[in-house]
Amino acid sequence: MKIETLAVHAASEPDAASGAVATPISLSTTFRHGPAGEREHGFEYIRGTGNPVEQRLESAIAALEQGEVAAMFASGMAAASALFMSLPRGAHALIPRDVYMGMRILGAEIMAPVGVTVSSVDTTSLDRVREALTPATKLVWVETPSNPKLEVSDIAAIAQLAHARGALVAVDNTFATPLLQQPLVLGADVVMHSATKYFGGHSDVMGGALAFARRDELAERVLHYRHVTGGVLAPFNAWLILRGLRSMPARLAWHCRNARAVAEFLASRPEVERVNWPGLPGHANHAVAKAQMRDFGGMLSVEMRGGREAALRLASRLKLFTNATSLGGVESLVEHRASVEGEHPHSPQSLLRFSVGLEHPDDLVEDLRQALDHESG
Ligand SMILES: *Cc1c(COP(=O)(O)O)cnc(C)c1O
Repeated sequence: MKIETLAVHAASEPDAASGAVATPISLSTTFRHGPAGEREHGFEYIRGTGNPVEQRLESAIAALEQGEVAAMFASGMAAASALFMSLPRGAHALIPRDVYMGMRILGAEIMAPVGVTVSSVDTTSLDRVREALTPATKLVWVETPSNPKLEVSDIAAIAQLAHARGALVAVDNTFATPLLQQPLVLGADVVMHSATKYFGGHSDVMGGALAFARRDELAERVLHYRHVTGGVLAPFNAWLILRGLRSMPARLAWHCRNARAVAEFLASRPEVERVNWPGLPGHANHAVAKAQMRDFGGMLSVEMRGGREAALRLASRLKLFTNATSLGGVESLVEHRASVEGEHPHSPQSLLRFSVGLEHPDDLVEDLRQALDHESG
């Protein structure tokens, strides 16, 4: 079955009790069991055994990523940290130099004190990854395309390198979604999603997911960690994310089409020094992106010739792009990353990140044109 069909049909059986076609929401935190704890339907208490909606969502995500099992969490960071917390004490993990800001903070502030060292490396370079692997390296975390510079790393090649040295590979697949890229098929061991983004798709729900190639000891450790520490997904959020997942293929196609129009327009403008979108032939990792992705996604960033001031002026003159963080919703967003990264920003001051939404591409381009014309005029 094609992935578009899976998105609609995975775990979508009509409700056994009522025949309801739309998945019923189940808010119960506890489920009847026999006097000696015999489970009737596999459920017991929601933190440990989940609930019917979450179970459907997990099997749908496992199907889309072609994994053996998936686990939902309260947020993308709850999912990522559950994986890192399941690494043995003394382990070393690698993260990309360009990566979601929360991962850098997780490594430095949360993992170091519990005895897991996290260092960053340019994962777009196989030589750099090879040099950075140590005998203690247990995990290589890849984020591709990366936030906010849209760097693309070669998942299959990194998996080969890491596996040869005894390390696992996990991929943050938030920007691409399984529609555009399937890391487990390319050889990765774990996939992470911030379901807050394209899965939910409407900027109104937070959740996270891990999909595992195998239901092995690591997967069991992560599930146990979730059970004990409780970073579980609320049933209503599971229901919203499952609802969003059904239409994700159709939405993604439009996000990609619109991002191409926006990227090509911005690349034609003299005020813009550089457009970071892996679909442009001039992108440093375009060849790798073309080989491992079906399309290039709805996220892009630009670096403005006029630096911070030009970036802020453009952000302030846009009318259809709302100044807000996050991504993957129907509405277009723009963000000056350095401004939200605190005292020591990692992103260049000249950089603006765009989440291209589902408006008509002509209107988006027209909005950018009026804002940039203002700049030159
Ligand atoms: C948003 C995001 C996260 C964190 O997810 P939350 O759901 O906000 O916890 C991680 N990685 C990427 C690439 C993201 O965009």
